Amino acid sequence: MFDSRRIQHLNDAQYKSWNILYWTEWALRTEWNCGLAYASEYALQKKQKLIPLITIDNEYQHENIRQLIFLIESIDELRTSYHDAGLTLSVIYGKTREIIEKIVKKNDIGMIVASATYVRYFRDILTHFGDTLSLPIVLVDDASLLPPWIASDHVEYGAYTLRKKYWNTVTMLTPERNISPEKVECTQTHDDLWKVAKSSWYKKYLSELTDISCGNANKFIGGESHAEKHWNTFKKEKLPYYDTARKNPNEENTSLLSPYLHFGCISPLQIYHECSQLKTWNSKLETSLIGFLEECLVRRELAINMWYYEKHPDQWNCLPDWVIKTLDEDREKQTSLLTQNEYSLDDLKHGRTEDPLWNAAQHELVRTGKIHGYVRMYWGKQLLRWFRDWKKAYWIGVYLNDTYAIDGCSPNGYTGIAWCFGKHDRPFPPKKTHYGLVRSMTFGGMKKKFDVEKYIDKWS
Ligand SMILES: Cc1cc2nc3c(=O)[nH]c(=O)nc-3n(C[C@H](O)[C@H](O)[C@H](O)COP(=O)(O)OP(=O)(O)OC[C@H]3O[C@@H](n4cnc5c(N)ncnc54)[C@H](O)[C@@H]3O)c2cc1C
Repeated sequence: MFDSRRIQHLNDAQYKSWNILYWTEWALRTEWNCGLAYASEYALQKKQKLIPLITIDNEYQHENIRQLIFLIESIDELRTSYHDAGLTLSVIYGKTREIIEKIVKKNDIGMIVASATYVRYFRDILTHFGDTLSLPIVLVDDASLLPPWIASDHVEYGAYTLRKKYWNTVTMLTPERNISPEKVECTQTHDDLWKVAKSSWYKKYLSELTDISCGNANKFIGGESHAEKHWNTFKKEKLPYYDTARKNPNEENTSLLSPYLHFGCISPLQIYHECSQLKTWNSKLETSLIGFLEECLVRRELAINMWYYEKHPDQWNCLPDWVIKTLDEDREKQTSLLTQNEYSLDDLKHGRTEDPLWNAAQHELVRTGKIHGYVRMYWGKQLLRWFRDWKKAYWIGVYLNDTYAIDGCSPNGYTGIAWCFGKHDRPFPPKKTHYGLVRSMTFGGMKKKFDVEKYIDKWS
C-alpha cells in the first residue's frame, strides 16, 4: 500500500486480537491518509472494529483562537468525509492521555495506530503508551513526504545539507496512487463532542482552551475541500508563474496552503504525486515547479527535521554558536543605541513602530492571520534592531507569530523565526550593527524588490 518505512513501532508488543484505535491530531483528511488506511486495512484483515478518534486537548494550550476555529471547521467537514467513506469519527474534548486510557479499557483495544505528530506534548503521550501498555503502538508519518527519521538522523545544518539526500530517497517512498481507507465497521465512543449542541460548547470550549483576544481572521476556512480548492486554483492558475510571481507581496501568487498543510487537510504526498503527473511541461513550468517543491517539500521538511531532532525547537537555543557569539558581541557594543528604540509588546501588536513597512506587515498578520512570505522575513529580522536583549526579540517573534498566525505554532513557524536569526543560513560578513554576522534586510533593499509604498497603503 505504501512503504513500510513510513511506520514506526513504539514498542515490541504483539497484536493478539481486538479492535483498532486510530488517533490523529494533524491528519484532518480521509484521502492520502496513510495512518487511516493502515488502521482500516488492519481492522478489515483481522475482522475487527475500528475506532477513529480526534481529541481536542484541554491541557495543550498552545494554539491561537484562529487555529482552533480552523481546526473545528476542519473537523466538522471531516465527519462528513468519514461518513462518505463508510466510517464514523469520534471527537472528544478533554485530556488526550485520559481519553485514550479510557477507550483502551472500555473498548477492547488491541492496537493503537497514530498519525505522527511532531509536537512534543503529543509525542510524549504516545511514548508513555508505548512504555506502559502491552499492545502495539504504531506511528505512521502523514505530515511529510519523507518521514524525518528516514530523511536524516540528526539536526541538518541547512537546506543544502538535506536537499540531495532528500531527492535521492524520496522516489522510493512515494505511493503511485491515492491511498483511501477501507470501509470497516466502526465503534463510536460515548461522550462524542459533536453530540453536544454546538451553540453551547463552541464559545465555552474556545475560551477555556486559549486566549481569545486576538479574534478570528476570516481569510481561511478549515477543511479538506477548502484545501483542495486552494490547491487546484494554485496548480491551474499560479504554479506556472510561481518562480517569479511569488516574490510580489502586493499580489496573491503563492499557494496559501500553509495552514492546510499544518493541520493535514492536504497531504504532501498528494501534492508531490500531482506535480509529477503534470502533463504540459515547458521550461517555465519546470523552473516554477522546482521552486515550489523546494519550498513545499525541502524547506518544510527541513523545519520538521529541526522539530524532530532539536531539543528546543521553539527557543533561541537552537541557533548555531556563531549567531549567539556575534549577537552577544554586538550587544556589548551597542547597548545605549538599542535601549533608545525598545518598543513595548503593545506597540508591536498594534504596529506602532518607526518602520511603516513593519507596521503594515503586522497589520496584515493581525487582519488576515498571515504575512506574505517575502515580507515575513523582513518582519522577523527587524526585531533584532529594537531590543537590547536579542533573546527577548526572539521570544517576541515567536510570540507574535504564534498569537496571530493561522499557520503558527508549527515547525515552519519556529524555523521561520530561527531563520531570521541565522538558523539554516551562513554567516554574512562583515559584522553589522544589531545583527552581528546574521544576514540583514533593509527598508532600502525591500524598496528595490517591490512596490513597498503600495503594500504600506494597502495595510495601513
Ligand atoms: C518570520 C517567519 C515566520 C514564518 N512563520 C510561518 C508559520 O508560522 N507557518 C508556516 O507554515 N510558515 C511560516 N513561515 C514560512 C513561509 O513564510 C510560509 O510557509 C509561506 O509564506 C506560506 O505561504 P504559502 O502557503 O502561500 O506558501 P507557498 O510559497 O505557496 O509555499 C508552499 C508551502 O511550502 C512551505 N513553505 C514555504 N516557504 C517556506 C519556508 N521558508 N520554510 C518552510 N516551509 C515553507 C509552506 O508549507 C507553504 O504552504 C515563516 C517564515 C518567516 C520568515
